[in-house]
Amino acid sequence: MARSASLQKRIRLEIGGVVQGVGFRPYVHRLAQRHQLSGWVLNDGRGVIIEIQGERADAFVQTLTRQPPPLAHIDRVAVQQIALQDATGFEIRRSGGGAVTTAIPPDSAVCRDCLAELFDPQSRYYAYPFLNCTHCGPRYSITRALPYDRPNTAMARFIMCPACAAEYNDPGNRRFHAQPSACSVCGPRLSIPAKEILQRIRAGEVLAIKGLGGFHLVCDATNEAAVQRLRQRKQREEKPFAVMVANLASTAELVALDEASSRLLDSPQRPIVLLPKKHSKILAPSIAPGLQWLGLLLPYTPLHYLLFYEAAGRPAGTAWLERAQTLALVMTSANPGGEPLVIDNAEARARLGDIADTIVDHNRDILIRCDDSVMRVTGGSPSFIRRARSHVPHAIKLAHEIPPTLALGGYLKNTVCITRGDEAFVSQHIGDMDNTATLRFFEETIEHLLKLLDVKPERVAHDLHPDFHSTRHAQSLGIPAYAVQHHHAHLAAVAAEYHITDVAVGLALDGFGLGEDHSHWGGELMLYDGTHFRRLAHLQQLKQPGGDAAAREPWRMAAAFLHQIGRGDEIARRFKEHPAARQLHQLLEKNLNTPEVSSCGRLFDTACGLLGIKPKASFEGQAPMLLEGMVTKPEVVPDGWRIEDGQLDLTHLLTQLIDCQAVHGANLFHGTLVEALCEWSAQAARRQGTKIVLLNGGCFLNHVLASGVVKGLRNRGLSPYLPQQTPPNDGGLSLGQAWIAGHRDR
Ligand code: ZN
Ligand code: ZN
Ligand code: FE
Repeated sequence: MARSASLQKRIRLEIGGVVQGVGFRPYVHRLAQRHQLSGWVLNDGRGVIIEIQGERADAFVQTLTRQPPPLAHIDRVAVQQIALQDATGFEIRRSGGGAVTTAIPPDSAVCRDCLAELFDPQSRYYAYPFLNCTHCGPRYSITRALPYDRPNTAMARFIMCPACAAEYNDPGNRRFHAQPSACSVCGPRLSIPAKEILQRIRAGEVLAIKGLGGFHLVCDATNEAAVQRLRQRKQREEKPFAVMVANLASTAELVALDEASSRLLDSPQRPIVLLPKKHSKILAPSIAPGLQWLGLLLPYTPLHYLLFYEAAGRPAGTAWLERAQTLALVMTSANPGGEPLVIDNAEARARLGDIADTIVDHNRDILIRCDDSVMRVTGGSPSFIRRARSHVPHAIKLAHEIPPTLALGGYLKNTVCITRGDEAFVSQHIGDMDNTATLRFFEETIEHLLKLLDVKPERVAHDLHPDFHSTRHAQSLGIPAYAVQHHHAHLAAVAAEYHITDVAVGLALDGFGLGEDHSHWGGELMLYDGTHFRRLAHLQQLKQPGGDAAAREPWRMAAAFLHQIGRGDEIARRFKEHPAARQLHQLLEKNLNTPEVSSCGRLFDTACGLLGIKPKASFEGQAPMLLEGMVTKPEVVPDGWRIEDGQLDLTHLLTQLIDCQAVHGANLFHGTLVEALCEWSAQAARRQGTKIVLLNGGCFLNHVLASGVVKGLRNRGLSPYLPQQTPPNDGGLSLGQAWIAGHRDR
């Protein structure tokens, strides 16, 4: 190149984040050629290192950092001008060694380019259900260890054919160094072809189909008999099922879709998105009985797309991908009996044989299970209900570095969290820690994540509850263990995400967490000061007769409330359909096995019980979900609450609900509770001299409550924060625990 050396520049870039296994180097290669630059790029333990030389080096840096490849996530870039060298051409160099500090990307939905090949009869990938490229496909669920190279993945056993190897070695190809790349000649195989799977679905069968992060149970969502069969066999009477449809156009009759929800539904992460249900007769009535929300998701593996392709009659081209399709599939996690998702072929035959008429598997192993993520748009932005596939192991950036910490979460909807420097890695949803299979999954997840992140934790955080398996596990690890109060952890999770290091007040509203005084907390107003907290106030104490039974049978909470206001003699009459009512009255009279709780979850149950909504719930949180679904226009009972001696007392509101009509009651309860919570926390914020109000806990999954409190606090000039990167329920607990334990003095 006969250009003047004075315009030449050599720049060295060190880039960190999710930059390996995402097609970063071929992208850099193409970009360098486009800018007529010489130099090289390589992967090393810290990320990607690039040296470029030429006249348009600055433009290259700008483009790369502003428009990285789709799956990449750049966390840090160090740019340095260095001395010119005699060199021509641009090369991709061999990986260097070094300590591992980069991350494995999450699994991702099949990309547009791969879809075009999937439906092109001329392509060698035509109708091949395992095609992928550097911009899409499985990652986290098939990777055993770093560095992210084929021998460290579930693809190790498949030897690439010459055609695949040629693409893998061609820097100009989309599959350059695509570790899971495969074709019908050399790659994994499905046990039953897509065409036959569809025939069986159409015939009303229930199928177990192996997917990306585990098996799904699948049936025709428009066939009531098939959906009922699935419910019976799965022993899942009323819990809603998620439904997969072909594309955004196919959702029109089913749900009301706004701009933000459309983007979320169609994102490469392809979560299940909860959307306001429309009245339509298309889906089987027992998909989501009685609920206002429907969980929808779009196809994300090539096999999902092939089913819609067959259903559409194998149309030519890809234009059909945008047109509305009639096929709708129930897609529910194959996790019989509340145990973890089934991922193994033999396990599928053993555990799903009684549920599914047909089992569809393949010979690519799933190394770590990952449920579908569940999300919703709250106040214009996406929020989590369950964080799993396609979001794990994406790092949550912390305000600053803390010592490497492992946090083990709590009991329900558990996750674990591992920190490395200023990054926190929250695991996929593990589940309720009430069975040995889940406990095993819990330990597998810890081991898998520690290996992928190459972290040796120096401290471990756990819940205050001495009887949780997670607590005992923490104490068995032989490193300093730190107990963190449940609601303190909830508030810390929000503070960690938003980098809030100032003093704040916080509302933690959930079902249950052990308090420092060993009583049952769950409606807490706290002063949050990083590693320290003070319980400023709490919701009124309610009696929870018979312990846990009351959490599933709201009528029991209502009976206890009647007793509390001196109307115990009405219990037998009002709850005469429950044989246990008389006995419960005696229990209350004698004050036996009736702990006092400040739980917001139980407050909701009390309201449901008084209004006669779902006296016996078939899954956790069902009654409050139904109550929320009834709200038409929240109304405030002006003298419905009192703030006294640190308690928020809603006795007057609850009394109003006795003999109240259900919809009216739902409106009064939500409207008044929201107003009371806003006033209560605003007073505390004023007294403490802060404007920050942290909001967290499972009750904030209630959309009316969450949006009402946020709006009410903003109207009072305060700054409320709800979690966005973890769910408000106990799925976010581990993040808060890690953040607190990471700051404690030894
Ligand atoms: Zn692709
Ligand atoms: Zn091949
Ligand atoms: Fe909680």
